[in-house]
Amino acid sequence: MRDRIYLCLAHMSGKEMDYIQEAFDTNWVVPMGPNVNGFESDLERFVNNRADAPALDRDVVCLSSGTAAVHLALVASGVGPGDEVLVQSFTFCASSHPITYVGATPVFVDSERDTWNMDPALLAEAIEDRLAKTGRLPKAIIPVALYGMPYKIDEILKVADRYGIPVIEDAAEGLGSRFDGQVLGTFGRYGVLSFNGNKMITTSGGGALICRDQNAGREILFYATQAREGYPYYQHEKIGYNYRMSNVCAGIGRGQMTVIDEHIAHHRHVQRLYCELLGDIEGFTMHCAPSPRFDSNYWLCAATLDPSLRIRGQENAYAEVVTGAVGGAAGVTHAASSAVTDCQPNANVEALRVILDAANVEARPVWKPMHRQPVYAAAPAYVNGVSEDIFRMGICLPAGPYVSDDDVRYIAATIRDAIV
Ligand SMILES: *Cc1c(COP(=O)(O)O)cnc(C)c1O
Repeated sequence: MRDRIYLCLAHMSGKEMDYIQEAFDTNWVVPMGPNVNGFESDLERFVNNRADAPALDRDVVCLSSGTAAVHLALVASGVGPGDEVLVQSFTFCASSHPITYVGATPVFVDSERDTWNMDPALLAEAIEDRLAKTGRLPKAIIPVALYGMPYKIDEILKVADRYGIPVIEDAAEGLGSRFDGQVLGTFGRYGVLSFNGNKMITTSGGGALICRDQNAGREILFYATQAREGYPYYQHEKIGYNYRMSNVCAGIGRGQMTVIDEHIAHHRHVQRLYCELLGDIEGFTMHCAPSPRFDSNYWLCAATLDPSLRIRGQENAYAEVVTGAVGGAAGVTHAASSAVTDCQPNANVEALRVILDAANVEARPVWKPMHRQPVYAAAPAYVNGVSEDIFRMGICLPAGPYVSDDDVRYIAATIRDAIV
């Protein structure tokens, strides 16, 4: 049997250990130091670079996770109890959970079909309706680059600017993706990056916040290091957090930055190959950029299965409670209490996932929209049916540096073989 093919595995450049060794040799085994500064400089060079335009001047602050980056962007934007924040519903929970950390209410906005990301027209409707219902404007807007695909940032910014609401870009999955040649995360007031183990690059765990300028960056640094005022003793006038990145982790990041361009090129190559090998199947559609303006990193390659596409064994999908997810490396400790929920992928999608799994290929449904998550049942949502529709039909396929051309051919053949 061939080795298991995973969705997206961390891939080391070989330089990481040198930077880590340096941290130990110089006794910088703390959440600051030369690797943190070096990684920030590398990231600044990377995100500020623009195709056919002068470089930008954004500041990058490295943090302990992407979730922490979302949290601090909200804190620094003055979001607090009683406030509302507009957030893309179709996302991983880390986009919206931090809104609850600051005591605010997430207001979910559905997606458009081109990019699967926040629908700018629905966003405008949501703002007007919140204003009518609460008499106040939401405090921030969080679009998400799902699977790396750029959101329609030009249209979103137009809406946001009309009302003077800051945009916090969740580019955790979109590191290196560009819109009109400009790197995601540099358009809004803040841009969130993640270096978790399965993202475009890794620091084992970590994240960063792209800030408009040095002053904004210094404010984030203040909140990330327990909000200490400039006295010789510990003086606190604000609540802060312990969110700075470790100098050891940053060493991994510096090593990863030497291969980031190769990683992105490889993700794009894998996407092209899937399209080439599976593009002719009726009812099976790869999720592709709607135009060259949307330059995705294709963090994960996603596809949708039309409900009419029949997959072997789909009549038995969901017959049993899934047990494999519990006790896994991802920290799932709560057993599923039922085989089904009232919002889940279609039977053909689940059947394909099971077939791929048996062929030693990790595949996964797309993110379940937050407005359908029980924990957010009471949150306001502006819905057009798009994200739920895609959730029922979508599947994520392996991408990343470890996925070879031969792997993609094997996966494509397995998919073809699964179709009745
Ligand atoms: C991974 C991710 C995050 C958070 O990143 P962590 O580093 O895992 O905390 C935020 N938003 C989205 C959309 C993500 O996929």
